[in-house]
Amino acid sequence: MPAPDRRRFLPLALSGVTRAPASEELRRRLYLAALGVGATVLALVWLLTWQRGPYDPYVLYVHPLLLLMCLWVAAWLLRRRPLVVAERVVFVGNVLAIAVQMALALIAPEDAALGLASAAYWMLVALSILSYLLLSARGALLVSAGMYALGVALPWTGLALRGRGPGDLPELVRVQLTCGAILVLLYGLAWYREHFLLERGERLTLEALANTDVLTGLPNRRALYAAVERVLEVSGLRPDQPASLVLLDLDHFKGINDRYGHNAGDVVLMQAATRLRVGLRGSDTVGRWGGEEFLLVLPGADAPGAEQVAERLRRAISAHPFPEVGRVTASLGVAQAEPGDDLGRWVARADVALYRAKTSGRDRVCVGGPPPEPVAKPVEG
Ligand code: GH3
Ligand code: MG
Ligand code: MG
Repeated sequence: MPAPDRRRFLPLALSGVTRAPASEELRRRLYLAALGVGATVLALVWLLTWQRGPYDPYVLYVHPLLLLMCLWVAAWLLRRRPLVVAERVVFVGNVLAIAVQMALALIAPEDAALGLASAAYWMLVALSILSYLLLSARGALLVSAGMYALGVALPWTGLALRGRGPGDLPELVRVQLTCGAILVLLYGLAWYREHFLLERGERLTLEALANTDVLTGLPNRRALYAAVERVLEVSGLRPDQPASLVLLDLDHFKGINDRYGHNAGDVVLMQAATRLRVGLRGSDTVGRWGGEEFLLVLPGADAPGAEQVAERLRRAISAHPFPEVGRVTASLGVAQAEPGDDLGRWVARADVALYRAKTSGRDRVCVGGPPPEPVAKPVEG
């Protein structure tokens, strides 16, 4: 028999999924906000230049193209199309716009060259931010450093061809140095973010590993202790907040292993775990207590309510066609939390109920009664 694929049962945190849909949604919103700001600025600058001058071919002819690009990308994002296409379009659009600005700065008269180069540096900052979102910190550093080097070299080449040097245009030097400092800062932030996320990811993976049963992907005993303690904190303090435990034990499981092999037994455990998981509410917890025993923690459920849940799960297991071994049944013991309970007492009552289910024929649910009254000693004399 083929070995079961355990990865299918691992929780998301352990299965190597790196980009959660939530982070995509966040990026989509971030881009839409940035496009809104960018498009407004482009339109305003175009309007002012058109009305008041001075004549600036870059603003008058390239801004409308960039504005169209922003609108197209925003529509793309709003229709929830793939993010990567929008990111690439904006990236290429930005690179082209910077290249045009730099080329114009090369041939423009001195005063116009300064304005063009300054605008290009702010676009370079935007491009770097986008690179850090799209690439690794190292890749983005290469892109922004390369573009910055070009951005510094080109205007000075144009000016040098006209016999001018840095001393003649201190404003340009200042803008270039400011832009360089911002780019260094951005790299520092990206480096920090990458390392912080890596560390956080490792910590979350370790935590998930420590609390997860490897075979079934369910919370393990350690996680169940925490879940029971959490519920006890609430129910223990407030008697109007009931809570119940259900201890479930697969019947004659040793026989299944003996007859069909240990691997078949493992598959049964995984399938039973899935049946239990899908049969519960989001606020309930089901975990592997050990071996072929599972513990269900049901906050808000009194004994009759928990009995109904247990009965539903018992039927789900006994009706499930376990392909490897045929029919499997389970016995379940229910216990409602009592005032003054601790973890040991509460689980012990569920265990007593489970024992009753076993001894009265298996494939059934039994509910634990109130804790036994202490036997009064007869008064002598
Ligand atoms: P009962 O109906 O009284 O519960 O009988 P049972 O056979 O289910 O109970 P018993 O305690 O005698 O046997 C439990 C078996 O579960 C023995 C053990 O080898 C098996 N088991 C425990 N953990 C695993 C596991 O991870 N995989 C497999 N395949 N078997 C396991
Ligand atoms: Mg057992
Ligand atoms: Mg058993």
